[in-house]
Amino acid sequence: MSNFWHPFGQLYQASHSAVVFDRGEGVYVYDEDGRRYLDGTAALWYANVGHGRTEIAEAIAAQARKLAGYSTFGNFTNRPAEELAGFLSERAPMAHAQIFFVQGGGDAVETATKLARRYHFELGQPERTAIISRVNGYHGTWGFGTSVGGIDANRQGFGDLVPDTYRVPYDDVEAVEAEIVRLGDERVAAVIAEPVIGAGGVYPPPPGYFGALREICDRHGVLLIADSVICGFGRLGSWFGVERFEISPDLVTFAKGVTSGYLPLGGVAIAEHVAAPFAREDSPIFRHGPTYGGHPTCMAAGLANCHILEDEGILERGALLEGELLASLKPAEKFESVLEVRGGVGLLAAVEVAPDLRAKDPGAVDRLAGTVRRNGLITRVLSQGLAFSPPLIVEPTQLEELGQIVVESLREWEATAG
Ligand code: PMP
Repeated sequence: MSNFWHPFGQLYQASHSAVVFDRGEGVYVYDEDGRRYLDGTAALWYANVGHGRTEIAEAIAAQARKLAGYSTFGNFTNRPAEELAGFLSERAPMAHAQIFFVQGGGDAVETATKLARRYHFELGQPERTAIISRVNGYHGTWGFGTSVGGIDANRQGFGDLVPDTYRVPYDDVEAVEAEIVRLGDERVAAVIAEPVIGAGGVYPPPPGYFGALREICDRHGVLLIADSVICGFGRLGSWFGVERFEISPDLVTFAKGVTSGYLPLGGVAIAEHVAAPFAREDSPIFRHGPTYGGHPTCMAAGLANCHILEDEGILERGALLEGELLASLKPAEKFESVLEVRGGVGLLAAVEVAPDLRAKDPGAVDRLAGTVRRNGLITRVLSQGLAFSPPLIVEPTQLEELGQIVVESLREWEATAG
């Protein structure tokens, strides 16, 4: 048995059925035996520019040779961190955004939720600590992120989580307002929502959802946190995903596509009014931040990746190709074992397996994913079915191939299912 305990992997199974990835090129990855797979998930929703971009590798190497790592605590900084903060601030969906850098999406969620509470504290409303999130929402696996998470299985067995978090149905904006009123609006710090729910099942919002959510938050003095960890950096066709719904959140969390995963990086874009209580000469310190926030080599990876996204027109492709991805998967709906094919907002989709089949046979979705993989395509297993989020450089013919592999695999899998 391997000594590697996999994240979200069954300890025994994962090491006895390991798939060892070796290299990547464009939309393809190769295992150690040289087998090629179409990367239908962009690794874990992040390889937005695709694999094997030597410009990013070279930017990383150049920075690592010059100054690989250095602290940014206090007033220490480095040129790539300044540049990336400036670049992202200019493109953020709020004016004069401050950018707080962390190591990944989970850290970004911790930062945004803690900052939301601390912001109200600074404004003389320390009782505003409640955070509202959505059923099926996924916000990472750290403290706050676990507590606000909307996938029940991820919250079980950890004892008391961060208190004062509340979940509402993901598709009912009026439920958010009802919850604020129930709690008392002098008690609520923030609402956190993904533009399109990702790991919780790929659920685009109902029409008008985010505009209405913005109004509700404004009406009650509640901060709106958009968790754009999956949806940013082109996945919905824009920098932070929410531009699509024409709203300006108070905080936006990002990670994944900011470096396309060439190095780990996350962050929060913070609206000027949220930063304001911390921006005066005599303001307190926001006593928060991880060792590697603003890490120069990760910053260099982010800059190189963001320039590729912008200069090569890759950013827009998440929206341009969304119809094609959905259309390529739609034929899967004719299978009895498939409840529905969802998506169409951004280069994100899911094939949901019929709930009665999943209830009868809990290993069914894993076996389907295995069949798909043996047929040359990597997908992401969700509790409801399979998710798809290929690199944004994918070509329409490759999307067609993706759909064909799924259909063939469903046919094989149904034939062998108990
Ligand atoms: N928020 C969202 C919306 C995510 O999709 C994820 C990761 N899939 C996270 C937060 C957590 O990010 P990380 O795994 O980098 O901690």
